[in-house]
Amino acid sequence: MTTDFLSHLNPSQRQAVEHFCGPLLVIAGAGSGKTRALTYRIANLVLEHHVDPENILAVTFTNKAAKEMKERIERLFAEREAARSHDKPLEALPGHVQTKLRSQVYKTITKDLWIGTFHALCCRILRFDIEKFQDERGRKWTRAFSIFDESDAQSLVKDIIINQLNLDEKKFDPRSVRYAISNAKNKGLSPQEYEKEQPNFRGRVISNVYSVYQDKLAENNAIDFDDLILIPVQLFRQNEQIRAYWHKRFRHILVDEYQDTNRTQYDLIQLLVTNGESASKFEDWNYRSVFVVGDADQSIYSFRMADFTILMGFQHDFGDGLPDDDTRTMVKLQENYRSTENILQLANELIENNTERIDKILKPTRGRGESTFCYRAQDEIDEAEFVIQQMRRLEQMNADLHWGKFAILYRTNAQSRAFEDILVRWGVPYKIVGGLRFYDRKEIKDVLAYLRAIVNPADTLSLLRVINTPRRGVGKSTIESLQKASIELGIPLWEIISDETSVKTLAGRSAKGVSAFAAIIEKHREMLDSVSASEIVQGVLEESGYVRDLKAQGTDEAEDRFQNVQELYNAVLQYEEENEDDKSLVGFLANASLASDLDDTPEEATNVSLMTLHSSKGLEFPIVFLVGLEQGLFPSYRSLDDPAAIEEERRLCYVGITRAQERLFISHARERRLYGNREPASPSLFLAEMPRELMDTNTATSLPSKWTKSLAKGGSQTRTAAPVGAEPSDDLDWSVGDRVMHAQFGVGEITNVFGSGAKATLAIRFDGLPGMKRKILPISDR
Ligand code: ATP
Ligand code: MG
Repeated sequence: MTTDFLSHLNPSQRQAVEHFCGPLLVIAGAGSGKTRALTYRIANLVLEHHVDPENILAVTFTNKAAKEMKERIERLFAEREAARSHDKPLEALPGHVQTKLRSQVYKTITKDLWIGTFHALCCRILRFDIEKFQDERGRKWTRAFSIFDESDAQSLVKDIIINQLNLDEKKFDPRSVRYAISNAKNKGLSPQEYEKEQPNFRGRVISNVYSVYQDKLAENNAIDFDDLILIPVQLFRQNEQIRAYWHKRFRHILVDEYQDTNRTQYDLIQLLVTNGESASKFEDWNYRSVFVVGDADQSIYSFRMADFTILMGFQHDFGDGLPDDDTRTMVKLQENYRSTENILQLANELIENNTERIDKILKPTRGRGESTFCYRAQDEIDEAEFVIQQMRRLEQMNADLHWGKFAILYRTNAQSRAFEDILVRWGVPYKIVGGLRFYDRKEIKDVLAYLRAIVNPADTLSLLRVINTPRRGVGKSTIESLQKASIELGIPLWEIISDETSVKTLAGRSAKGVSAFAAIIEKHREMLDSVSASEIVQGVLEESGYVRDLKAQGTDEAEDRFQNVQELYNAVLQYEEENEDDKSLVGFLANASLASDLDDTPEEATNVSLMTLHSSKGLEFPIVFLVGLEQGLFPSYRSLDDPAAIEEERRLCYVGITRAQERLFISHARERRLYGNREPASPSLFLAEMPRELMDTNTATSLPSKWTKSLAKGGSQTRTAAPVGAEPSDDLDWSVGDRVMHAQFGVGEITNVFGSGAKATLAIRFDGLPGMKRKILPISDR
């Protein structure tokens, strides 16, 4: 290893990176280089300790983070190789040499590294071993299994509630029933065990839905997101030989964001790391390691059963219990490289209000920086206007700031609308991170349903979704009679529709439609082993008539859908390029099911990012707007009377603040329309906990005035008004017709003056605000 590689690290990070075998916990606050240490450690294991990349398993919180980590590692290796074999920095080499180096690194190293989310990694394990698993009722799955993502799982639950059990959807809301099922699964409870725990009727009905739900999954040869992790855990417990194989394979396990691990995920790590349940379970620490990094103050996923006491128990669970265990198995990082001192101090002082935490030090390394600005808005529209004006001002002032450097973080998705409206109006490009997944769009789900039906004949849900899409004369009653036959005869739906004699019993037009559909599926299924995924997709799009139908519709919406379908085809091509060793359709489908709503497309890197605070974990942006700090919104209404929940909200606020590198803006509104109601709002408890001296606001007298008065009548001279309330002067003598400049809204003309002097309120028609004719602004809104 060249020394300059490790010189990107401070001594504590270096200690963590160079640690070879045994357990190691890295705990540290936000922005202290935990993820960097984990990334470098992977490189160091391969380079310095000659660990075979195949023996490394690294867990990240999102697919995007996994991708970035792989790219970073690839770059580290390529840089080193450039220095070694060409004696030059990588960037100094001609493009084709750089590409060659990178592809060499990919082939020899990064291709074999398993880096991904718990879900993605478990999916890979199941692709190998699911056929060896059987559940408590002896049910089995094949390697062609479908993954039902959250929206599939919810539709299935809904279908069971309404159609199978004839329940009232209002009383048994599919979302909350699905949530209850998911929780039961994560506690390791089977439907029967769950039922025993239920004291009331509602609970017993849910357990009934759960039981049918499990039957349906198995019938469809499908699993849901919870199963992705649960099945490997159960399989490892059932089958020691399989556990031993993966245990031996993954000698070095690394987990980022360990504070948001849940029990099932912990069990998985435990089963992979330890050598059985005997006293000597850690006997082979000489050639294996488990390395986790996290920050208990950033644990924000308890609603997904994450439990930060798992992080706190690491040394107890994996240490050897010897007296110096504590120091040998833990490294603390204490320097923050992300944020300016002002931002960091604000975050630190806020989080100190939590009682459930380990105190830690986080020292700034980036200088004091500017104060945080806290804006009190009139309502959500005024808040959005404030944000856009600040963004425009900063973007115009700084040549090196593009829109990609701004982020707007909010507590709930519903808050995005006001910002989207104004961003559109000003033509500022933006992306919603974690919005509707590409793979959740109707047309994409349709095409994926074709593909799933081809790969997995048992996937009845997918068959039913597209048997008459586009229309081929297969009516509702035909579908019902097919389903009925399937249930009565106990034969999977696919076998019925692909059997000519049974199809012949249907009415002529329907029979034709059904056999045409079966033929398309059958034909492509036969091609599975011989052609690439993209060829199959292309064949399906043409032969199913799906694309022809979209084109024939001729509406803008259909055109949009057509483009998305094309984009899906591009995604298949990209998948094939990135996965040279597994170009199969099965592989692509797994990838599509696991793509999270946080996975980004690269061309959007120069857009303003809008996202919930939960989605912002692990990310950083030069300029951050943290909006909607109001009681009942943030902290959320549901947390208000639960101290533990308030602490989690406070951690969420800590996460939000610590995303900012250079500038932080915070805002709250006096009243807000949310979910259709306009309500007065009071400032968040968290605002009161942030030290005043670190913040400028538009509500305190000591602030410089935002007002600049331009005396149109007196020529081109422009004067700035004195601080509000400080110096009564001519400048505060406003009259109708005066041209004024306002830092947020730009130039406008006064149309009315209410009151006088420092107490005046002005009605102004701003020139530059499309759709916004008039605004009444108090000069000081104390
Ligand atoms: P979070 O808790 O938010 O996940 P983290 O602890 O994982 O943060 P990183 O994202 O690894 O922190 O690092 C934060 C920033 O600091 C990144 O921009 C990273 O490149 C930079 N950084 C990390 N370590 C160093 C270092 N030793 N010297 C300079 N910059 C560093
Ligand atoms: Mg991190």
